[in-house]
Amino acid sequence: MPHYHIWTIGCQMNKADSQRIGGYLEHIGYRPAPAVGEADIVVLNSCVVRQSAEDRVTNKLAALGSLGRGKLLVVTGCLVDSHSEALRRRFPRVDLFFAPQDYAALAGFLASRGAAPAPDAAFQSTAIAPTALVSIIRGCDNFCSYCIVPYRRGRERSRPLAEVVAEVAALASRGTKEVTLLGQNVDSYGHDLDGRPGLADLLREVNRIEGLARIRFLTSHPKDMDGRLIAAMARLEKVCPSLSLPLQAGDNDILRAMRRGYSAEQYVDLVADIRRSVPGIALSTDVIVGFPGEGEAQFRRTYDLLREIRFDVVHIACYSPRPGTIAARRLEDDVPPSQKVSRRRAVEELQEGIATAINAALLGQTVEVLVEGRRKGKWWGRTATDKLVFFEDEADRLGQLVAVGVERTSPWSLQGTVG
Ligand code: SAM
Ligand code: SF4
Repeated sequence: MPHYHIWTIGCQMNKADSQRIGGYLEHIGYRPAPAVGEADIVVLNSCVVRQSAEDRVTNKLAALGSLGRGKLLVVTGCLVDSHSEALRRRFPRVDLFFAPQDYAALAGFLASRGAAPAPDAAFQSTAIAPTALVSIIRGCDNFCSYCIVPYRRGRERSRPLAEVVAEVAALASRGTKEVTLLGQNVDSYGHDLDGRPGLADLLREVNRIEGLARIRFLTSHPKDMDGRLIAAMARLEKVCPSLSLPLQAGDNDILRAMRRGYSAEQYVDLVADIRRSVPGIALSTDVIVGFPGEGEAQFRRTYDLLREIRFDVVHIACYSPRPGTIAARRLEDDVPPSQKVSRRRAVEELQEGIATAINAALLGQTVEVLVEGRRKGKWWGRTATDKLVFFEDEADRLGQLVAVGVERTSPWSLQGTVG
């Protein structure tokens, strides 16, 4: 029986794509292999959103250059652009480069190698797990000036509402308790579909699915998040009180240069609306430090805004110019690397203090945890607010919703006991 191994880095979208590729390979008779050495086909799902990620991908590809003959090596993800000729010259060992989510290219290639071609439906994830990632809109139309994603994933294409609902229902019938609906900008879901359903409509339909306990969606864009969606979050009981709302910067000139389409003031108003409608909601965000033109004053405005809003989680990245993007073409990368790193550390320190205090407030409370796995003798899972929780219990808790009393907290996780 042939085996496959998938190596993935990058965002949730890449993880979802890898799940789908794994589902397809299993459908046509492959089985998962824990290590590259035992696999007949190795899939590398790449990320190039920052230079550091791209370096990891190219190092991995160089290491896979010595992969035994007879084994297939295929590469997808954001490394692959429409001119894969240059990539083919650079990495001659690779048998196939296929654009993110161009599953037909993978199926065609495998068919040419003798594997049975499968209908599109076979690309449905076959993962039976308490949680699942479901892509609902592909590509991105935003062209934030720093970002390479729209160049690699193309324009926005929403999956039909009924198709998404059917996929989630199938997952729920096989035991999945939580789904995360994914897109680079989920708030623009449906604008390209007949009847123009919105994300709020999709949430309403998914909320009806029996057996499903939790719904998340990722990532929202502050310029597109509207009152209808906020109201849906507040009203639908399965939609988790947890939201990823990338801020990127707190200075209006920088936000403009990033082409984000909102001001710091509009962002603050939006957060106030959301918190009013969904009390206790946990917010996470992304921030880029060291964008071109970011002096101390501009950085300070980002820092102060983070201190004011008090996010549960902040993902911080140092600006990395990406070839072909508007910022890389037009703006000088004028913040020295050491300055970027010290700003990143300052935000990390600030956030550690904020997350320590937010999580400490949960001490002594009982939280509901959806158990996703076991690590080092402890069960682990997440609360509806996306807090990571560890607890000990002899019973098999996988996939269950368990009430856990919180006994210890840190900025990154909670520890407790059942009951
Ligand atoms: N669509 C989401 C959004 O609007 O934020 C996330 C997309 S992006 C793949 C994930 C994060 O990577 C972004 O939020 C941004 O903070 C970071 N990022 C993207 N391009 C970057 C760059 N050139 N340099 C540093 N960080 C970058
Ligand atoms: Fe990139 Fe902006 Fe699209 Fe997010 S919204 S994927 S940051 S272009």
